[in-house]
Amino acid sequence: MPMQPECDVAVIGGGLVGVAIACGLRLAGVNTVLLDEGDAAIRASRGNFGLVWVQGKGDLLAPYTPWAREAGRVWPELARWLKEFTGLDVGLEQPGGVFLCMTEDDLAARAAQMARVAEQSAEPYEYEMVDSRRLRELVPQVGPKVAGASYSAYDGQANPIRLFRALHRAFVQLGGRYAPNAGVTAIERRSSAYRLKTADGEWTANRIVLASGLGNVGLGEQLGISIPVKPMRGQIMVTERLPQLFPLVMEQIRQTDDGTLLIGTSWEDVGFDLSTSYGTTRRIARNALDFVPMLRSVSVVRSWAALRILTPDASPIYDEIAPGAFLVTCHSGVSLAGNHVFATARWIADGRIPQNMRAFSRARFEPNHQERVA
Ligand SMILES: Cc1cc2nc3c(=O)[nH]c(=O)nc-3n(C[C@H](O)[C@H](O)[C@H](O)COP(=O)(O)OP(=O)(O)OC[C@H]3O[C@@H](n4cnc5c(N)ncnc54)[C@H](O)[C@@H]3O)c2cc1C
Repeated sequence: MPMQPECDVAVIGGGLVGVAIACGLRLAGVNTVLLDEGDAAIRASRGNFGLVWVQGKGDLLAPYTPWAREAGRVWPELARWLKEFTGLDVGLEQPGGVFLCMTEDDLAARAAQMARVAEQSAEPYEYEMVDSRRLRELVPQVGPKVAGASYSAYDGQANPIRLFRALHRAFVQLGGRYAPNAGVTAIERRSSAYRLKTADGEWTANRIVLASGLGNVGLGEQLGISIPVKPMRGQIMVTERLPQLFPLVMEQIRQTDDGTLLIGTSWEDVGFDLSTSYGTTRRIARNALDFVPMLRSVSVVRSWAALRILTPDASPIYDEIAPGAFLVTCHSGVSLAGNHVFATARWIADGRIPQNMRAFSRARFEPNHQERVA
């Protein structure tokens, strides 16, 4: 007997990416279930820095530049909708941002990167490379040792935990079904539907979305497809609450809407090790004192580590990897949240990734991909 799908789309993974897609699917009227693991799951969505960051994106994949610009543009609409619909203010601010460079070499490398990104952008791409003096006009708290920065008006920040909560609340209010202890352990394709075995029973769906962050690797194996993401650890230190300090957002130190400072940045290739380490936090703290010397008198109250979900070119993957099975993964799930709700979910509702997004397919990482495209 043919299976009767219980839902049209099953989104696997309830992190920022999965819940954004699931919300967008409900907005499009699609019967959707969101299958997630339990509380102890690894989730980048709970440990990130909360930047809504545009500048510099697309250096390794040109179509990512306009996609990131679009994400910055739709964010205000996302924040407004979430506030009206869920009552939660996700704390969006887009005052512009600076990427600090400690040395002249760092500044030159950043200038080259920004120039490449601007050059490949079809629309005007406004940014400024600023020297130490100009930087301190923009952000007076920055120390004299800092060589300069790239500045762009496109950048901002939000409260990522509230964003996460608001998206989950919106999904449920929109009539979506959330299954929180339903880690998917097996995927089978039967006739035209998918059967999903989970820790909490079975589901059938016409289409599935793999949105499980690092868990996508195992899910891809179920479909015989290798998914090129790997963990990259980042450690973050958090200070006591302070009055609002900075006129702009900095990539390395940001102040949350409740006053604490988050201090990063580290990129550590250590597998699934989620511990913090003294050596890295010490380096982060030293850099922070050079960036903003007044932090010398500020107390750090806690620190944590979380795992980025990184593709080889640090750009998202949007793909239909098997008939009716979509893959959505990215490193910047906060920054891209509006795109995922309002655009990516629509593609899945319509059952196909648009032609102009094909550059984001998983196939770009296969050997000889360029040759085959040519
Ligand atoms: C230190 C750090 C700083 C960051 N800073 C920023 C930033 O400033 N701005 C920004 O835009 N982004 C930032 N990011 C990235 C951002 O956090 C991620 O892009 C985003 O959280 C990814 O969300 P996700 O849903 O893909 O993955 P996750 O949050 O990891 O969620 C994956 C979900 O899938 C579930 N899952 C896994 N396997 C299964 C399974 N088999 N069945 C069902 N469910 C499953 C997990 O339980 C989890 O809920 C940062 C990340 C880190 C680590």
